[in-house]
Amino acid sequence: MKLRFLGTGTSNGVPVLGCQCEVCTSKDPHDNRLRTAAMIETEQTRILIDCGPDFRQQILPLPFRKINGILITHIHYDHVGGIDDVRPYCMLGDIDVFANKATCQGLQHTLPYCFGEHLYPGVPRLNLHNIEPHQPLIINELRITPIEVMHGQLPILGYRIGKLAYITDMKTISEVELPYLEGVEALVVNALRWEPEHHSHQLVSDAIAFGKRIKAKQTYLTHLTHKIGLHAEAEHLLPEGFHFAYDGLEIEV
Ligand SMILES: [Zn+2]
Ligand SMILES: [Zn+2]
Ligand SMILES: [Zn+2]
Repeated sequence: MKLRFLGTGTSNGVPVLGCQCEVCTSKDPHDNRLRTAAMIETEQTRILIDCGPDFRQQILPLPFRKINGILITHIHYDHVGGIDDVRPYCMLGDIDVFANKATCQGLQHTLPYCFGEHLYPGVPRLNLHNIEPHQPLIINELRITPIEVMHGQLPILGYRIGKLAYITDMKTISEVELPYLEGVEALVVNALRWEPEHHSHQLVSDAIAFGKRIKAKQTYLTHLTHKIGLHAEAEHLLPEGFHFAYDGLEIEV
């Protein structure tokens, strides 16, 4: 199973519009971060985790291939703003979209034309599935367990797939969730910046502490702001086994 980081930037992406800092003006492609999303692929299966506003740009260079499911973490625009752009992939079949109840309701509200009784020709054909934390779902040969994390006051979903766990936009996590993360070897988790603290996102130090707590072999930080600094320099500031993810990075799990 392969995970590709489609985007590793926070909600406004990097470069930040109008910013002239050294990261935003860097020529190193590692310093360009589209909005956070990922793709899981095996021989038979392609799954998206989130589908943000940069989806079209993220998928354009990749082979055109059926999308077997979209796992949504939460309703924020930087995670769902590209769903309409899956339209061409619906030629290959309807697409199953998995999300918690609040996110399902939010999607029906923001994309009403996708979920009505009589669909306008050409709209994305999406089958919405309301999923619950800890209730596994199956997509082809993959068994996926949703876990719940807190994004400030908002409960959102992370996903466990085999030895991989993918968590974004987390601030805190309940003890109850930890058993579902046992045995994770590759952890993807959000880290906004070094400091100052943020009300709904972890910092780098929190992400490192979390990775150590989970005992993941490798931890990849995502949902990063330009305040992380130049990728080439920042990467060396992390302990062994921790990495800043970057757009286009692929890991084998
Ligand atoms: Zn976000
Ligand atoms: Zn900047
Ligand atoms: Zn969010």
